[in-house]
Amino acid sequence: MTAPTIERIETSLVDLPTIRPHKLSVATMHGQTLMLVKVYCSDGVTGIGEGTTIAGMAYGPESPEAMKLAIDAYFAPAMIGQDATRIQALMAYLGKLVKLNHFSKSALETALLDAHGKRLGVPVSELLGGRRRERLPVVWTLASGDTARDIEEAEAMLEVRRHRVFKLKIGARALHTDIKHVADIKRALGERATVRVDVNMAWSETQAAWAIPALADAGCELVEQPVASAAALARLMRRFPVALMADEILQGPESAFEIARQHGADVFAIKIEQSGGLFAAQHVAAIADAAGIELYGGTMLEGAFSTIASAHLFSSFARLRWGTELFGPLLITEEILTMPLDYSDFELTVPNGPGLGIELDEAKIKRFTRDGLLKITQ
Ligand SMILES: [Mg+2]
Repeated sequence: MTAPTIERIETSLVDLPTIRPHKLSVATMHGQTLMLVKVYCSDGVTGIGEGTTIAGMAYGPESPEAMKLAIDAYFAPAMIGQDATRIQALMAYLGKLVKLNHFSKSALETALLDAHGKRLGVPVSELLGGRRRERLPVVWTLASGDTARDIEEAEAMLEVRRHRVFKLKIGARALHTDIKHVADIKRALGERATVRVDVNMAWSETQAAWAIPALADAGCELVEQPVASAAALARLMRRFPVALMADEILQGPESAFEIARQHGADVFAIKIEQSGGLFAAQHVAAIADAAGIELYGGTMLEGAFSTIASAHLFSSFARLRWGTELFGPLLITEEILTMPLDYSDFELTVPNGPGLGIELDEAKIKRFTRDGLLKITQ
């Protein structure tokens, strides 16, 4: 019997509104664009993958538009006619043809895994070695930019038992303003919640050395990517009673090895897109485990497809000390699935159906799908 091959690949850009402005040190987001890719195979199976960035190109070099173009012009022609079941071999082949483009590769690998899981009748987690947990704790990011509004939002999340760990986006304002913001929120929530911060590389090393002890005093348990440089982050290690996490500097297995080699982080924020796909992210996790670095399941504020692909992977990790931040779909106003995801009791349920175990509501996203590459705004 001949193996099913890839027959056709389709990409689209879907512009979705967010529930509120999302403020980071690098940009303020008012909406989210998903690049969706569908891989059609000769056995009638179709897989869906997603590429999403944080605030266009403000966070990294790839944009949803660039992913669509890279797939249409470079990846797709090389994939047509290839064996759809040999995913690692196909991704290695594509890696030779196209350098970097980690987000595009993650989207395509997700689609191939979704299709293969459907073909075999197993969830993607089983293609990755098998899940170790059915549910994942999910952090919520408070990023309205306003202390009172953030406290109100956290109280509402505690009330409905959706989140009890909060990550605050800081770094855009003066240090003392940010520290007061964190201290006020932690004081208001008390022992009912834990608080972490993400600086998104905004501080210099000396600013970080000044601010981190104050954050520790305020009750903050984890500081994510306070500085841009890996060397500076390594120098900040072990000086404060608070964990330091690498995010932006973690760009796949090679960088993970380099950070581990120089004892450059307590925790890795693992992201499938930033790593270059689910298998690459699995390698990052293995390096972390071997080096005694703890794990946190990160997000690029992705929609349902990349979020659930991440969930399948994170569910297979041996240790997941810091939980996940797989809240991306909750930041978007529109439900794009035929069956919503289960966020309850502070956790997300990893779907159990074949492939990713979710289904796109085609009629719903039609209205939000962009015509062409350009986004027309007034
Ligand atoms: Mg981050």
